[in-house]
Amino acid sequence: MSAQIIPVQPFDLVVFGGTGDLALRKLLPALYHRDADGQLPEDARVIAVSRQALDDDSYRAKVAAALATYISASETVENTTNRFLARLHHVTLDVKGDAGWQELKKTFAGRDDRVRVFYLATAPDLFGAVAKRVGEENLITPLTRLVLEKPIGKDLASARAINDLVGSVFPERQIFRIDHYLGKETVQNLMALRFANSLFEPMWNHSLIDHVQITVAETVGVESRAAYYNTSGALRDMVQNHLLQLVCLVAMEPPSAMDADAVRDEKLKVLKSLKVMKPADVLRNGVRGQYKAGAVNGVAVPGFAEEVGSPTATETFVALKAEVENWRWAGVPFYLRTGKRMPHRVSEIVIQFRAIPHSAFGPDAGTIEPNRLVLRLQPDEGVQLQLMSKDPGPGGMRLKPTPLNLSFADAFKVRWPEAYERLLLDVVRGNATLFMRRDEVEAAWSWAEPLLAAWEQSAEPVRFYNAGSWGPAESAILLARDGRAWADPTT
Ligand code: NAD
Repeated sequence: MSAQIIPVQPFDLVVFGGTGDLALRKLLPALYHRDADGQLPEDARVIAVSRQALDDDSYRAKVAAALATYISASETVENTTNRFLARLHHVTLDVKGDAGWQELKKTFAGRDDRVRVFYLATAPDLFGAVAKRVGEENLITPLTRLVLEKPIGKDLASARAINDLVGSVFPERQIFRIDHYLGKETVQNLMALRFANSLFEPMWNHSLIDHVQITVAETVGVESRAAYYNTSGALRDMVQNHLLQLVCLVAMEPPSAMDADAVRDEKLKVLKSLKVMKPADVLRNGVRGQYKAGAVNGVAVPGFAEEVGSPTATETFVALKAEVENWRWAGVPFYLRTGKRMPHRVSEIVIQFRAIPHSAFGPDAGTIEPNRLVLRLQPDEGVQLQLMSKDPGPGGMRLKPTPLNLSFADAFKVRWPEAYERLLLDVVRGNATLFMRRDEVEAAWSWAEPLLAAWEQSAEPVRFYNAGSWGPAESAILLARDGRAWADPTT
């Protein structure tokens, strides 16, 4: 089976921050794969903008080295590499200065009919300045789109300020706010599972679902990003965006169509239904942790405070009990957790169904575990439905949980595309379905802000956990208090 490849329109993709980690590690390798699959038209170009004094050739050499690092040799083809590198150009420009803008402008001569994308792979404090200047330089055509990377601010006020600035130059339909989780194949599969099958929708509510768990665990620490991360923390870095987007996709009503506004209207309703926590609720329903030195997969690693260089209260782990206050989800907790330096890199959504009302089997049958639907986002992408079944053998009726497994890797023999491959081409196509609208970002901040404020003002310390563990004990207690437990993501 092969994926269908439909070439996109010719485009100029301008990457502000074209020499940065995101561009070299994610964006350019993603475009390389699309080129290799024949999806980029002959006339597609990438114009990297950075402060470095590079000409086209030296930029191409830099990207060639990055491709060799981030794409396996078995996936590279010399012809494709040469074709891809020939698409690349570099303009030296400091967003805060005047030099370089005329050179950038010249690269668009005679190309106003092409799709033009300004991708801001820079810190968010430059978003407004870039938007303003491209407006002043008359570089915005009807086919221009502006892509904003996360984070969109660090709280509601700063997010609003960024949105106001870019919104004063670009209409909302031309602004694409990336949350790369939405580009993951398995995240989109969640919409397919819910809205392309009649099986689950009738039971997708409080009458049959006991609770939902979302785990996004990383084995990595903060490494070279310690200084930045110390100003952010896991709530801003992961929960406010990625985890809340997953909550939206689990909890949203079926949209009338898979178009950008229909989908985003439904996601927005979920965000607005999230129960806003008072300070006492935050301390009861939220756990913030920070990793100490420990070992991950047998490798000794330092604690977060050692990486920062001094003691700090920043959280590298969050566990929360969230509530979606509407008819469908009344009384169904959404337990969310994310952390760095966990024992395994795993992202999954667990839909835990209610227990059977009565067991007809005697005590010898064993415990009848409630059904569980597990959506594994990474690694080993797939869906697992846990059912009770009879343990084979003539000696009585013993029951045991048995997984019904759908492994996407086994079912679809195609290369698994990276999220950015899908998202970059959606920008070119002008399809904003998988991007966040302004009101979504602001609603997510409105919910997250009371948590940040309560933790900041609380005398309760951040809870420490050993690197290589599943977080502080309080995370398990959060569920144990409700008679529940985190699903083991390793099974
Ligand atoms: P980086 O520091 O590696 O790169 C920053 C880039 O911006 C460089 O190319 C630099 O030359 C350019 N730049 C900085 N100031 C400039 C100026 N005044 N004028 C012109 N160019 C300027 O950072 P990064 O890791 O690539 O991340 C960029 C942004 O994307 C950050 O906001 C980050 O939080 C976000 N982000 C990064 C990743 C990732 O995987 N690296 C993932 C998601 C979001």
